[in-house]
Amino acid sequence: MSSGANPEAVKVVVRCRPLNSKEKADGRQQIVDMDTKSGQVSLRNPAADSSEAPKTFTFDAAYDANCTQEQIFEQSAKSIVNSCMQGYNGTIFAYGQTGTGKSHTMTGQPGEQAGIIPRSFAHIFEGVEGSSDTQWMVRASFLEIYNEEVRDLLSKDPKNKLDVKEHKESGVYVKGLNAFVVKSVPELQNVLAVGDKNRSTGATQMNQDSSRSHSIFSITIEGMDKNAAANSEGHIRVGKLNLVDLAGSERQSKTGATGDRLKEATKINLSLSALGNVISALVDGKSGHIPYRDSKLTRLLQDSLGGNTKTVMVANMGPADWNYDETLSTLRYANRAKNIKNKPRINEDPKDAMLREFQDEIKRLKELLEGEGGSLEAAAAAGALGTTPDGKPTIHKSIDPQTVEKMRAEMETQMRAELAQKQGMVGISEDQMAKLKEEAAIKAKEEAQRMEEERQKHASDAEKMKRKQAKIHEEAVRKQEDAEKIRLEKEALAKKLKAMEGKILKGEARGGLAEVTRKKEAELKKREEELERRRQQEEEKVRRIAEMEEAQLAAEGKYINRQEEAEQKTKKLKKLWKKYQEVNAEVDDMYKEFQREKEDLLESIRMLQDQMQLKDMVIEAFTPTEEVQKVMKRAHWDYEREVWVLERLSDMGRREMPVSKRPVSASGQKRPVSDFAKLANAMGDMNPRFRSENILNLELDMPERTTYDYVGPGVDPRVQAAINAAFADDGELLFVGNSPSATPMYNGEAVQAVDASASMGSGSRPGSARRRPDSARRSSSKPA
Ligand code: ADP
Ligand code: MG
Repeated sequence: MSSGANPEAVKVVVRCRPLNSKEKADGRQQIVDMDTKSGQVSLRNPAADSSEAPKTFTFDAAYDANCTQEQIFEQSAKSIVNSCMQGYNGTIFAYGQTGTGKSHTMTGQPGEQAGIIPRSFAHIFEGVEGSSDTQWMVRASFLEIYNEEVRDLLSKDPKNKLDVKEHKESGVYVKGLNAFVVKSVPELQNVLAVGDKNRSTGATQMNQDSSRSHSIFSITIEGMDKNAAANSEGHIRVGKLNLVDLAGSERQSKTGATGDRLKEATKINLSLSALGNVISALVDGKSGHIPYRDSKLTRLLQDSLGGNTKTVMVANMGPADWNYDETLSTLRYANRAKNIKNKPRINEDPKDAMLREFQDEIKRLKELLEGEGGSLEAAAAAGALGTTPDGKPTIHKSIDPQTVEKMRAEMETQMRAELAQKQGMVGISEDQMAKLKEEAAIKAKEEAQRMEEERQKHASDAEKMKRKQAKIHEEAVRKQEDAEKIRLEKEALAKKLKAMEGKILKGEARGGLAEVTRKKEAELKKREEELERRRQQEEEKVRRIAEMEEAQLAAEGKYINRQEEAEQKTKKLKKLWKKYQEVNAEVDDMYKEFQREKEDLLESIRMLQDQMQLKDMVIEAFTPTEEVQKVMKRAHWDYEREVWVLERLSDMGRREMPVSKRPVSASGQKRPVSDFAKLANAMGDMNPRFRSENILNLELDMPERTTYDYVGPGVDPRVQAAINAAFADDGELLFVGNSPSATPMYNGEAVQAVDASASMGSGSRPGSARRRPDSARRSSSKPA
């Protein structure tokens, strides 16, 4: 979805800083003149004689040394920020030689000297607060391109290199780049401060702490109609604001850079030339191919140059004579950029809108919180009560054998008492008595059995009940745990919900005095905008007049008489002659500039060739040819990452050799075994040569000894005795300290003239005498 996209030229403004104190002290001339009304800049060549006319260029606006930071923001940046809040993409970039005020223009200093970036922060949040009918989400990211490597300035590890990728729908992006949701101006300022600290800086002759990298600060602003948000069908507009501080555009020879610095300068110039080439290709319009892919910078700015973005370029320059070449080149660069046409349109409902994602997630969380498990309060109550249903058996008691016994005894006593009564009342015969007794016994037994059965039944019932009760208890505990879990989950959800809702910003619907103030502010803003519009119209008029004068020159004049015609034609001729001379000078300048560029390129090529030769020499001298060839065969170019990669050896092997498995033994043996050996083994032959299958089980036969110990020549017993006596003296050669180079001691006295290298290891080592000439030779063979 897109609203109509009308081509819109890149807006180019120029800014010239004041002469700095050093330039003043050196007595430098001011060679830049600006007409802030018409946006005209004229540049005087200090080397040429006074007859040469200054070169003039016209831009959308020209800011001289007296222009304030506020003016630049109000007149040239604010409208872009406003567009971003409406859902357009916007880019503001500062171009120019180091030390001309790019960082001053983009970042500046706190307070009055605040640059475009901090002023944009304030403006964005003013807009957010002033719109009570829109929900907002603001995100910020900050990256730099240094030596053609993209780095995340907000990452914990800002030296890490990130890849630039391209997505079919959302376009070019940096993989793994951090983007922080910000809710206020101080938060954005914090993001800027953190990123600035992480920038790579180096000192060149041009500027002590000038940055040698390009930096891009991006703010993504998503907005959605608040009423529409309720049914989540509202349109989301997403605007992205890129604030770019480019590295210095000066030529490398001027910086006096060498080594690493030169390498940096080459790469900086590479992406700036790529930017120049992209601009040329866009302006030329002949070639369909725009070389965006030639550098990281042009890839990331692709959309801002000939794409869906409103773009402002601020070309910065210094006023002093010593920078004539650079200033001229900046003016030309800027002049070309004027002709780039973009097709900005509002980004409506892009698939990757975060606001939509957040809203969906918030809705889901809310549903979760109000859904199934009852309200949050109920869940909390369930958890807080923490009651367990009382499941203890209250109705059923188990009947134990003791009780049964007691009952039986009671019954027997009762029966005996009855019997005694009957005997007492009626005379009863002995056998009658016996019979009664027997009956009673049987009865008692029956009763006991019945009771036992009952007891068992009760016992099993009780058991069942117990199990049931345990189950109920378990269930209850589980339910309680579930309730607790739900409660915790809900708490977490509620927290998440609150955090997410906090990230969506809503303008305050203010009442009373505040509301009046807001209205006044809005009115004021409107008037300011009207004023600005008028100012721009005025400028446009001045420009038109200049153009019309030229057109008039070309138009056929109506001549009253010959005399007048001759006068007119002479005038025309004079003007044309002047123009011709200007163009001639221009061609000359261009030629010189190309020549300079060519020299720079040749210089780079020479430097690269030198380095290549050095590397060739190192390779040839120290690496065997086969190894080099092997490595070259393995290496291939990774287009995505733009590096050489070495294929893994194992992968190469797989590619070059047919996949072959180890052959399988036909008879299932672990290794080839002859039929004879198999047979011998089966027969139980103990010869080890047939038992190769389990060689570990073999017992080794110790060989019989066939040699004698050495016996030295006989020594005269007297000599031997003398030697023994000498050794009986308890002197021992020993080292003091645990370092082998420590001084050897003999009987507590240092031993002189012992070579440190010879004293390695144990002190009594006999090799020391032999090693000495060795080490002496070694040291004498060293080159002088
Ligand atoms: P760049 O980023 O292009 O290398 P800087 O922004 O660092 O240049 O500016 C270099 C110096 O000039 C700084 O000290 C800065 O404060 C000063 N400067 C730049 N532009 C202006 C200006 N318009 N007014 C006053 N001082 C300026
Ligand atoms: Mg800078």
